[in-house]
Order: sequence, then structure tokens, then C-alpha cells
Amino acid sequence: MLEIYQIPCLQDNYGFLVHDPETGATATIDTPEVAPINQALAAKGWRLTHILNTHHHFDHAGGNEELKAQWNCQVVGAAIDAERIPGIDVALADGDTLTLGSKQARIIEVPGHTSGHIAYYFAADEVAFVGDTLFALGCGRLFEGTPEQMSESLAKIMALPDETTVYCAHEYTEANAAFAVTVEPANPALQQRVKEIQALRAAGKPTVPTSIGLERATNPFVRSDSAELQAVLNLSGADEVAVFAETRRRKDHF
Ligand SMILES: [Zn+2]
Repeated sequence: MLEIYQIPCLQDNYGFLVHDPETGATATIDTPEVAPINQALAAKGWRLTHILNTHHHFDHAGGNEELKAQWNCQVVGAAIDAERIPGIDVALADGDTLTLGSKQARIIEVPGHTSGHIAYYFAADEVAFVGDTLFALGCGRLFEGTPEQMSESLAKIMALPDETTVYCAHEYTEANAAFAVTVEPANPALQQRVKEIQALRAAGKPTVPTSIGLERATNPFVRSDSAELQAVLNLSGADEVAVFAETRRRKDHF
């Protein structure tokens, strides 16, 4: 089993260390902030062998060069965005396999937030690292993509098994919940989850990771088929992309 260590970074980012106990291989998912990543490595006694970037934004790849210089680790990222990933050694595309020690991850291209965003899916351990594409009760802003692209990218992630543990890169859940209840106010699973989120945050605890099953039941950005959501948006019977686009638009102005 992979060992995963979650690291709060910057204002509301999460970094993650992914460790294969069989070989000692250790990856950081993105490099939001060098000091806390190094502190976590020291605390666990792990040696950094890989940087796995989800996308080029500075709060995800800003620590690449410093960590690479220090650890002589391999930097892995999206082939499409190789020019914007500092220090990249291994450029991967949709369907490629990344080997981390004795473990393997499938690369899933998920454009929308950025054009070269990728997710890492470790099927044997049922974990996925999705960066800024899917959030707990939310999704990433469309900086470099269209609603069509993002809708398709989210569908690729949601095609993973319900049990999949999903690690997203920001603690945005409380704000996302405040929006979600405005577009699906009568969803009982959402109401229950909002209570749980408030309790976790009041206790200073993270709401990440989440799971595919939980997002499927509560996240309006992957619930375009919900009759209630469609009715609230005045889009009853509209297609999935139109419902997603309007949900995203309303969140942008929330
Ligand atoms: Zn980003």
C-alpha cells in the first residue's frame, strides 16, 4: 500500500507525499512550498525521488527547481505543457503509465483549468491526485479551457470507481458548500455533508481527501443530470455541458 502524507502549504494549498514502502520511492504531488515539503520528508525519514506535477501554476510547480536541485529527483509533468513545467524530465500524455517504485499510476489528461492539466490515478491503491480539476464540492476555474473541455475532464475523473480516494489541491470546501446549497437546496446528501464540513473546519481539520462516490452524490459540478439543479438554473432538460457551464458561471459570480 502507498503511504500518503498530506501537507498544508501557503494559504489553502495541500501538498502530498506519496511513498512506496517496498522500494522507498517517494513523490511529492506538486511543489506548492518547499519548506513544509522538506519538513514532512524529514519527519517521515523519506528521500524525495519524484516530483509529480498536475499543472504549471506557480502554487503547484513553483518549488520544482529548488527541490530538484536539493534532491536530484525526477520531475514529471504533462507533455502538452512541458515548456511551462520547470525542470521537467519526463513528459507524459493521456493513458501513459508512470512508475513510482513498485507502483504504477495512469495519467489522465484533464484540460480546462489549464490546457495541460493531468491527474495521476494509482488504480491498485484506489487513489487519484486531481490537482485543481475536481475539488470537494467544486471544480477548478476555467483559465485556459472551455466548459466543454472541463465537463469532459470531470467526466473522465468521475468514471473512476466510487471508492476512489480523491486528493485535490486546495481547501476550498466550505466556500464551495455555501454555493452548492444555493443550486441544490433540497439534496439531502448535500445537507448532511455541509454539516460534516462545518464540524471538520470548526475543529481545524481538513475536508480533503474526498471520494468519487461522495462527489457524485453532492457536487453540483458533476451533477448536471440533477432535475433540481436544472430547475434552479432554468435549464430543465438541457444538455450536460450547458448545465455545467451555467453552474460554473454562477459560481464565478457567487
Ligand atoms: Zn491552478
